[in-house]
Amino acid sequence: MLHGFGSRTVTAIGLVIVAAIAVFLLEWNLQAAIISLVGGIAAALVATGTGDQPIELPREPEVAPARPTPDLQEVIESVLGPVLIIADGLVSHANAAALGLLGHHIVGEDVRVAIRHPGAAERLAGPLATTPQEPVNLVGLGARDQHWEMHVSGTTNGQRIVHLIDRTGSHAAERMRVDFVANASHELRTPLASILGYIETLGDDKAGEDAQVRGRFLKIMFDEARRMQRLIEDLISLSRIESEKYRLPDRAVDLAELIGEVRSELLDAQDKRSRDIVADLDLGVAPVAGDRAQLSQILHNLIGNAMKYGRTGTPVTIKLWSDPLGMVRISVVDEGDGIAPEHLPRLTERFYRVDPGRSRAAGGTGLGLAIVKHIVERHRGRFDVASTVGVGTTVTLMLPPHQKTTAAIAAATHSDAPVIKR
Ligand code: ADP
Repeated sequence: MLHGFGSRTVTAIGLVIVAAIAVFLLEWNLQAAIISLVGGIAAALVATGTGDQPIELPREPEVAPARPTPDLQEVIESVLGPVLIIADGLVSHANAAALGLLGHHIVGEDVRVAIRHPGAAERLAGPLATTPQEPVNLVGLGARDQHWEMHVSGTTNGQRIVHLIDRTGSHAAERMRVDFVANASHELRTPLASILGYIETLGDDKAGEDAQVRGRFLKIMFDEARRMQRLIEDLISLSRIESEKYRLPDRAVDLAELIGEVRSELLDAQDKRSRDIVADLDLGVAPVAGDRAQLSQILHNLIGNAMKYGRTGTPVTIKLWSDPLGMVRISVVDEGDGIAPEHLPRLTERFYRVDPGRSRAAGGTGLGLAIVKHIVERHRGRFDVASTVGVGTTVTLMLPPHQKTTAAIAAATHSDAPVIKR
């Protein structure tokens, strides 16, 4: 406290003393008056602090202004998913998600009535655990196939906080994975069992010696082995496409040229139906941004299906054009039995077949359209199946054009730059 005050005061007193001595020595004449005036002003200046450090007064410790405690309802509204606060077995608070799931009547209700589920009732009726507990799985709360994870924790004043986390998506993904492994194993086991059966029969001297029987059995074994091979190839394709799904293909692919190439491959394979392919192509469409091998696989699968499921002798028409929004479109049209509307949403599921016997007899794996769907998604395109029972099916693909090439063509047509020939 003395620090700032002392130095100034001492200086001021010193100046006044000097002025007083001068007055005394000079016997109060004009000079003395001037000197006392200067001394007085200097003293006043020092006393007002113009020539010194500011006085540091002790400060009271700073206290932060008290903030209002957030409202409990506000807090639970900010949590993702349904949250309930339980006091004395009754629901005291519920956020909007909880009201949406369990109904607007639950506030004030017994929690076992609010969450009507045997698994929930057991945990909520028991004593409050002091250590974190495993969540309880609740199936069928809200909708029949909905899966929830219920977390219950306690507060110091004996209330319970119930938080429900929606696990429906991850359960569906897990089920799909389990179903897929089961289906793939089943699809492989059937031809394998058949091959093993024929090998055993051929090992029998009587059947093995008959050249005609042996030839027939070997043909069946060959067909079954080919079926397994196709299935394994499709499974490998699917996993490869899935592993690349976030890598956007960016090569410019000329679809008119690719369709021509696929058509020649099908003609070379000597399938009689390949002669029914009719191509109606607009050769001026922009190239698409794509993966050439995968786009070729789409064409093989779609044209293959049209050949398999269209009536013998009827045309399989491939069209290529550009729509008014600039998207490149391809459609594959057949004249066959068509597909009933209830099957349409499920056609891209792995191993889904409208008529399993017919698909297998035609060499189908049940994976063709699942592969098409994944490739189209990787290309940021769209894919649509329209069908009329007894008339036929049209599958249409929409693919975005290759941006760089499209921009170069546009620039070339609007300037003197050399025109890019395709
Ligand atoms: P598959 O190998 O069995 O042909 P896909 O995944 O290619 O498998 O097709 C799934 C199912 O959709 C087929 O089994 C078939 O029942 C039906 N389907 C596909 N394309 C056509 C079509 N052009 N006409 C009629 N049905 C079709």
